[in-house]
Amino acid sequence: MITPDRTVHTTCPYCGVGCQIDLHIKNEMVYRVDGRFDNDVNNGKLCVKGRFGYDYIHAPDRLTQPLIRNDKVSGFTPASWENVLDTVATRLWETRDKYGPDSIAILTSAKCTNEENYLLQKFARAVIGTNNVDHCARL
Ligand code: SF4
Repeated sequence: MITPDRTVHTTCPYCGVGCQIDLHIKNEMVYRVDGRFDNDVNNGKLCVKGRFGYDYIHAPDRLTQPLIRNDKVSGFTPASWENVLDTVATRLWETRDKYGPDSIAILTSAKCTNEENYLLQKFARAVIGTNNVDHCARL
């Protein structure tokens, strides 16, 4: 049996159920995942994604920083979070002002928590001014 260098208590990233997991790490590689029993969410159980779906952590082409494309012909280039968030906010306002709030739609995610999904629909309705809100589970 492998002895981990460290074990990290975290939340499964795949869906809003929020199963509690332990990542067992050796040489900075996750080699095993266990469901935790100290909660009422999953009581030690995990679905196949939560148990085995962590290859992406070490994928060489994994995105690890924001990318931005400044026009339709150039490719994506690395950018700071501040730059990317400012750009997104500016373009959302420009689009809303030019085409109206219903020109924008917010697509939320099963990977978000209930609270994050709530905030996204609130952002759509109260900030942007549209009811165009949908969720990836309906695709
Ligand atoms: S283990 Fe499965 S059910 Fe639990 S949070 Fe992850 S994806 Fe969702």
